[in-house]
Order: sequence, then C-alpha cells, then structure tokens
Amino acid sequence: MKIIVNGKEAGSKETGCALCGATWGEYYEEIEGQRLFFCCDFCALEFKNMINEVKKRTCWERIDELTINGNYYTGRTCIAKHNEKEYKFYVKFNEEGEIGTFKEL
Ligand SMILES: [Zn+2]
Repeated sequence: MKIIVNGKEAGSKETGCALCGATWGEYYEEIEGQRLFFCCDFCALEFKNMINEVKKRTCWERIDELTINGNYYTGRTCIAKHNEKEYKFYVKFNEEGEIGTFKEL
C-alpha cells in the first residue's frame, strides 16, 4: 500500500508516521503484510480502524494507495484506491481512537 500523508509519502521511519506523518516515535505494525511505521500505538490503532472501515464499506480485499489529508483535530479527507477504483471519504476519530465520524464523499 502506498501512503501519502498531507502531500508526502509516509509509512517508514524516514518518511514518517503512516497516519499523521510525524517522524518521532518508534512503533511498527504489520498491516496487510506491510511493516508500517507509526509515531505511536494510537496512530496505528486509528489507521487500522480506518482501513477496516474502508474495506468493509467497499468490499475490497486490499487497498493499493491511500491519500490522507488533515489531522486529528480537523478530521481527515482521504482517497483510497484499488485497481482503477477510487473511494473518497472523511474520517474523524474519537478519543478512544475509534471511528467517530465517517462520511462517504
Ligand atoms: Zn502518528
């Protein structure tokens, strides 16, 4: 999965947290067979919840590319891609890292 956070590629220690783009921290989690870097376990939890929600709604078996714009406070506007298909959505997490608001765009 290719991940772009606020205009920059992310998901490794060098490029930044797969959800927020921060380069501090040292948390890794394997998601869909890919070892992704996160600044903290909270970002990893939010990321997983988001991926699961998208897959549930689209019935895709995987996501090829994910573009994330925004942050925790404003919520995030995202585009997920699978083959030739695009799925646009808005997501905002609650204080537990679960999906608070989810809208298809
Ligand atoms: Zn993060």
